[in-house]
Amino acid sequence: MKEKLKEIFGHSQFRGNQEEIIRNLMRGNHTFVIMPTGAGKSLCYQLPAVIMDGTAIVISPLIALMKNQTDQLVAFGIDARFLNSTLSKTEMTKVKKDVLSGKVKMLYVAPESLTKEENLEFLKKANISFVAIDEAHCISEWGHDFRPEYRKIRGIVDSLGKNLPIIALTATATPKVQQDIQKNLQMEDANVFISSFHRPNLFYEVKPKRDPKKQLIRFIKQKKGQSGIVYCLSRKTVEEIAELLCVNDIKALPYHAGLEADVRMKNQDAFLNEDVDVIVATIAFGMGIDKPDVRFVIHYDAPKSLEGYYQETGRAGRDGLEGHCLMLYDREDIYKLEKFNKDKSVTERDNAKHLLQEIAEYAECSVCRVKQLLHYFGEEFKMNNCGQCDNCSHPHKKYEAEEQVLLALKAVKQTGERFGAKHIADVLMGIPNDYVKSYKHDKLEVYGKGLDYPDTNWLSLLRHILIFDYLEKDIENYGVLKITPKGEKFLKNPYSITLTRDYDFSNTAEDEEAEQETTTPASGKAYDEVLYDLLKNLRKRIAKEKNLPPYVIFQDPSLEEMATTYPTTKEELAQVNGVGMGKVQKFGKPFLDAIVKYVEENEIETASDVVVKSTVNKSKVKIFIIQQIDRKVDLEEIAEAKDLTFEELMDEIEHICYSGTKLNLDYYINQVIEKERQQQLYDYFMNSETDDLQVAIQELADEDFTEEEIRLMRIKFISEVAN
Ligand SMILES: [Zn+2]
Repeated sequence: MKEKLKEIFGHSQFRGNQEEIIRNLMRGNHTFVIMPTGAGKSLCYQLPAVIMDGTAIVISPLIALMKNQTDQLVAFGIDARFLNSTLSKTEMTKVKKDVLSGKVKMLYVAPESLTKEENLEFLKKANISFVAIDEAHCISEWGHDFRPEYRKIRGIVDSLGKNLPIIALTATATPKVQQDIQKNLQMEDANVFISSFHRPNLFYEVKPKRDPKKQLIRFIKQKKGQSGIVYCLSRKTVEEIAELLCVNDIKALPYHAGLEADVRMKNQDAFLNEDVDVIVATIAFGMGIDKPDVRFVIHYDAPKSLEGYYQETGRAGRDGLEGHCLMLYDREDIYKLEKFNKDKSVTERDNAKHLLQEIAEYAECSVCRVKQLLHYFGEEFKMNNCGQCDNCSHPHKKYEAEEQVLLALKAVKQTGERFGAKHIADVLMGIPNDYVKSYKHDKLEVYGKGLDYPDTNWLSLLRHILIFDYLEKDIENYGVLKITPKGEKFLKNPYSITLTRDYDFSNTAEDEEAEQETTTPASGKAYDEVLYDLLKNLRKRIAKEKNLPPYVIFQDPSLEEMATTYPTTKEELAQVNGVGMGKVQKFGKPFLDAIVKYVEENEIETASDVVVKSTVNKSKVKIFIIQQIDRKVDLEEIAEAKDLTFEELMDEIEHICYSGTKLNLDYYINQVIEKERQQQLYDYFMNSETDDLQVAIQELADEDFTEEEIRLMRIKFISEVAN
């Protein structure tokens, strides 16, 4: 088996429990695999498929990726095909014929194709080795992307007539989802293989969502040049944020199900090939995508479930190096999400609500994030300080909680271990609602005893002791709290225990107002004239030193803005219109020094924060042009796509360039202007007093340059020297 592993896939060793899994499957047993993404899950069915006689059926929900997946296998020399709605009749017939001839080792199918009568008839005739069910959490309505048709799978597999072994695989499953999958596949007798979900290279952080655009840009600017994914909830937000990032000099593209398939594919490729740094996406993006060096994953909006969240953040740091997972959290987002579910059935709505509740609890809880996440997957994490989450690196206030924990456990006990956290908290707080009264819980010894501890938030405390395993959630009756053996021990022999206080998200709104007051918008000419003159003189001096025309350093409007917003860091300076990071690196230092000194001497309060350039300044056309130039599309083609004349396109490009964005037009210029003539124009601009086009045309009149050539080279010059 190892030989085959080396021969086909080029690995000399199995990873984790791959070998045991494969052996189990090849012995003909049902096999259930829970393995985090990136740990080598697919090999668990790919290798046996090659070794075993016949064709393995791989059921996968990812129609869009099937071609990609089979292409990869074909590249390894494995005969793999797929059967789904994207194939033509002829192609389909060919696939079927080849499967029946016995040469195909793996056949990827979507659950939808599997249910079709004609496909079933065909499969009954084929020699099938086993059935693999990938992304098996889709079977469970408790999972994060439930697909109802997945529930029919077992019946279909049985109808294929033989005692086929099944291997079900998922990258994410809570104990509840796991049970649900096994039940629905009638695989309770399967051998289960669970790998640890701990990813020690990922850093988890949750920040209150206050001024999200600014937070987002500031975060990404600190990760300049690194690959990242920003998840948003709606297509509209995705578009808006992708645009916002572009305008703020971050190379980004959108990805969502509403885009044309070829655009989606192009954007995905641009991300994989590092033509762009950031992909802004709905959760439609990422399943099956294996980019090893994603350095950050940002949830701009709250995710829909903790399970989905872990899966999404798991796309960071696949190469084992650092990955930063940031969630911007606002309770309002949770309420919004709940409203989306209002048209669903009662059960679906309840499920969705539970999942959202867990997100809110996770975000607001002060317990180690890693511990919380692993607890969610039924795994115990024992380290005291994980060193990979905000709660551990900035611990919250601790307090002695022995008495409170005892009281909470008593309340669970006295109510018969049949209720959820909300009810227990109501009993402890002595809230005489109908529910409490109908169960006569207002007669209990613990009723109202919680009031003796006015600082204690009982819901939060219950959540903490759940994570610390004094309580557990009943799998059958979701949300019902039961006491664990550890909790029982504590009830008999209580001991000292310290807990931390949670975030208070309720005062978020007040802070927001306070924060906004400090950033008053700059109005008209209200710049600091003294500083402006000072900067202008500085520019003159530096231009002389560097032997450059002053205009290539900073243009006047940029100086005006500096004298208005007082940028004191490189990042802030880069936010000034017409500046950009390239210019900051080249010319920024003396200007920053001057501003810092000026600010200190005059005790000026600066809005020492990121200035977010709004998308209003740049039209969609400009963003399109920037993206196309990044992809080295010919200018004629760009003009045609946007129905512009070449002149108009040049106007737009100049505008982009003069507002500080660096454009690399070399790929085009080298086609249309000879090297020598390029140099001639470049020298002209280097030595000219001004970059005025008319002056250039006049002065260069004898040299037989076209206006277009002059303009192109002026853009190149400004981009290279000034931006
Ligand atoms: Zn931690």
